[in-house]
Amino acid sequence: MECIDEVIKFIKKLFDSDEILALHQPVFMGNEKRYLNECIDTTFVSSVGKFVDRFENMIKVYTGAKYAIASVNGTAGLHVALKLVGVQRGTEVITQPLTFVATCNAIRYCDANPIFVDVDIDTMGLSPNSLQKFIDEYTEQRNGYCFNKKTGNKISAVLPMHTFGRPCRIKEIADICKEFNLALVEDAAESLGSYYQEQHTGTFGEFGVFSFNGNKVITSGGGGIIVTNDPTLAKKAKHITTTAKLAHPYEFIHDDEAFNYRLPNINAALGCAQMESLDIILDNKRLLAEEYNAFFEEKSIVFAKALNETKQNHWLNAILLENKSIRDDFLNQTNDAGVMTRPIWRLMNKLKMFNKYHTDDLENALWLEERVVNIPSGARF
Ligand SMILES: *Cc1c(COP(=O)(O)O)cnc(C)c1O
Repeated sequence: MECIDEVIKFIKKLFDSDEILALHQPVFMGNEKRYLNECIDTTFVSSVGKFVDRFENMIKVYTGAKYAIASVNGTAGLHVALKLVGVQRGTEVITQPLTFVATCNAIRYCDANPIFVDVDIDTMGLSPNSLQKFIDEYTEQRNGYCFNKKTGNKISAVLPMHTFGRPCRIKEIADICKEFNLALVEDAAESLGSYYQEQHTGTFGEFGVFSFNGNKVITSGGGGIIVTNDPTLAKKAKHITTTAKLAHPYEFIHDDEAFNYRLPNINAALGCAQMESLDIILDNKRLLAEEYNAFFEEKSIVFAKALNETKQNHWLNAILLENKSIRDDFLNQTNDAGVMTRPIWRLMNKLKMFNKYHTDDLENALWLEERVVNIPSGARF
């Protein structure tokens, strides 16, 4: 590829910087310090405090979900969401191979096995067609539930992910899940601020899980939020993430084996301040993506777009290079020049701890794995 130098020059100009350009970085421009100071001044820095409720409420309002439950991080949120829809030992969870490792780790925390089904090229998220094909070929309904004919195991959930904040075909996936009585949990870790047909990602199934890790669109330092529209599931999620403690003024009584997955108040405080800036950050990121789009169009480099029926948060911008060797050149030259870029994740089914699980025909995922590169995507202020 001849124009790598031009790409490097353009990106440095975009960010108006000669420093090393990160893929993404948090921006703090609002009430962050004020809220953090408030935690320290009041001593409410840990698992009790008003910011947790406030953060949950902000996410609830923003996403339109009926309930929001904070968790210590997104991975813990996924673990609990899967557990509560019945993912357990001897069951299987259909997911995409092209994702961050946390998606699969959460399945394994429940002692369930992942099944890797292909993604769509355009969304880079779970393909409803491949999902339907897998169901037709490998499953049967027993007592109203979906079972894998080959292993005899129940399929306890479907876990799609909205890659880089670009919504997958979640409505079609949700329809399939309904038809075959499969629980749907969305890994929406990357997609706060992303909508499919005006409906916020994470709200299509039983649960959606957002992450507020430092590299995400906004951050609480570390943190996650589980959303659901089901009051019973919401109550269980709160209970099981907070040590299953019964409400009592001074006694410690717990009625279940549960988790300390509580989000500390100090993290929630940061999250609240960041939520106040979310729309400004998203606008800023959208403008960056538009500038990238115009540039790459002119250079005939494929810039990954979202589906028309979606609105995306532009968390991480991505380009698709022609083949692996061009990609490797691009990665080497950009990183050498201080412009951080990275390839999309190594497919989950290739990692040594996940390579023994059922792997469908992964043509699209394999194709994308060799070509997709993320480029600096942080908001510019
Ligand atoms: C970030 C991320 C997670 C995990 O979130 P943490 O808050 O870091 O635990 C899970 N899935 C995907 C796809 C992610 O990008």
